[in-house]
Amino acid sequence: MSKKVIIVGAGVAGLSSAFYARRAGFEVTVYEQGNSPGGVSTSWVRQGFTFDGGIHWLVGSSPRFQPFHQRWVETGALQANNPIEYADPVFEFRTANATLHLWRNIDRLTNELIDFAPEDRKALRSLRRHVLALADYLPAPSGLADRAGRILCLPVLLPLFIYLYRTTTRQYLERFSNPIVREFLSSVLNVEQNALSLIGTLGGYSMGDNGYPVGGSRRLADNMEQTVLQAGCRIVYRTKVEKICVEPERSRLSRSRVTGVMVGGAFQPADFVIVTIDTCTALQTLFDNPLQESWARKLMRRTESEHCSLFSLGIKKDLDYLPSTLRIHLREPVELAGQTYSTLWVYRYSGRDGYAPEDCTSLTVLFPGDTYDYWKTARNDGQYRNRKKAFMEEAQRLLTEYLPEIEGQVAVTDLATPLTYERYCGCYRGGYMGIWRAGQNPFAVPVKSKSVQGLRFAGMRTLMPGGLPISVQSGYKAAKSL
Ligand SMILES: Cc1cc2nc3c(=O)[nH]c(=O)nc-3n(C[C@H](O)[C@H](O)[C@H](O)COP(=O)(O)OP(=O)(O)OC[C@H]3O[C@@H](n4cnc5c(N)ncnc54)[C@H](O)[C@@H]3O)c2cc1C
Repeated sequence: MSKKVIIVGAGVAGLSSAFYARRAGFEVTVYEQGNSPGGVSTSWVRQGFTFDGGIHWLVGSSPRFQPFHQRWVETGALQANNPIEYADPVFEFRTANATLHLWRNIDRLTNELIDFAPEDRKALRSLRRHVLALADYLPAPSGLADRAGRILCLPVLLPLFIYLYRTTTRQYLERFSNPIVREFLSSVLNVEQNALSLIGTLGGYSMGDNGYPVGGSRRLADNMEQTVLQAGCRIVYRTKVEKICVEPERSRLSRSRVTGVMVGGAFQPADFVIVTIDTCTALQTLFDNPLQESWARKLMRRTESEHCSLFSLGIKKDLDYLPSTLRIHLREPVELAGQTYSTLWVYRYSGRDGYAPEDCTSLTVLFPGDTYDYWKTARNDGQYRNRKKAFMEEAQRLLTEYLPEIEGQVAVTDLATPLTYERYCGCYRGGYMGIWRAGQNPFAVPVKSKSVQGLRFAGMRTLMPGGLPISVQSGYKAAKSL
């Protein structure tokens, strides 16, 4: 008889572990508290407008970026129904006096920036060198000669990689004297991530990866769900795992062992349990006795997350002339939900099936930053709805100032805050991936519990900085370890 595996959560990590555990011959049941697959990687529909609250770019969308691409294909995430778009420029950056572009090709990108800010020529040339050096290491080696070549070059490049790993993006950007160039590069990703993340992301673009699967988060998650079901797994929605049941150690020679989970007040036995929900939330809520493992204490102490307030608008107008991703540099910084913003991150969805009614456009505006305490206080004070309303009014006013064509055309608005991600996905303090700090060990959570036999971990917290590729790969690793 096959051994039983219970998986907690049907996000990308949960679906990935389910697929690989089933492929290895286990009997697999997934419990998901929500009513659909995908977890954070999801979208929602308001009055016919679809708002994608997950993927903007996917590491491993190209076959050149292994092993992630293989995971996406094997788990059915990428299929004929979600071909990859490689928007170029990745985004357009508008200021009062100039328009810059995040071109995929690093020569084109740095040449445009040098034309704009010749005073930063030296720093931009070294950015180019750093990106090309890292981009060479991102694709899987193409053969023995390639592998040997990389090993030979490593001693020369290692000091650069260590420098980037030990430096925050914010510190790295101090080498640029032009404030617009700094702001432009600051809007690639969170400046608190280490510089390796920035250079790696630019390297990913330049090697032809980091595309967008059409249909976005939801189609990717639905594809994975179908693959998992066809493989013979069971997914039970609207069912929250309340506890992980652990049999205590009986003697010094036998470790404690997982026996199953509690759902709806009933015990469900299992030989293995893979926890794919936010590990911090799991540590806080799923165990009667805290896990006595050093990483668990460290994780709770040190975890830092990426957060956002995601403002969505349904526009009764086809804005297909706008770039699909736009950064609008504000004339004056503004304060919203206790954070200061100098650039709006705008995503346009139109012209593709299913995103917006005909001749209409879905827009999302991402406001990065940890506003969890702001929204939590508002909720405790009974002010959450009012503050959300005020936030949306101010954000819409601001956007209209820069995109006057949306005036009078807004059919629907919506705001997801960190409390939304906490409530619907169980994200710890509403964070949706980690921040990989300069010099921080990226291996945050071991796949296999050291103190409880049969217990495994996967998901965004397991390897810094998290995000979709880490989720899919950690699911594979957890299943392999069974
Ligand atoms: C706006 C936004 C944009 C993003 N853009 C990108 C991007 O461009 N590229 C990228 O790589 N990443 C991106 N991310 C991050 C990425 O979406 C997440 O890191 C990833 O989806 C996390 O997947 P996961 O499976 O590890 O966790 P989750 O998605 O959190 O899955 C956990 C699942 O467990 C369920 N659950 C929780 N508690 C329980 C319980 N007790 N019992 C049963 N079920 C439970 C939850 O409902 C959820 O479905 C973005 C995130 C956001 C919010």
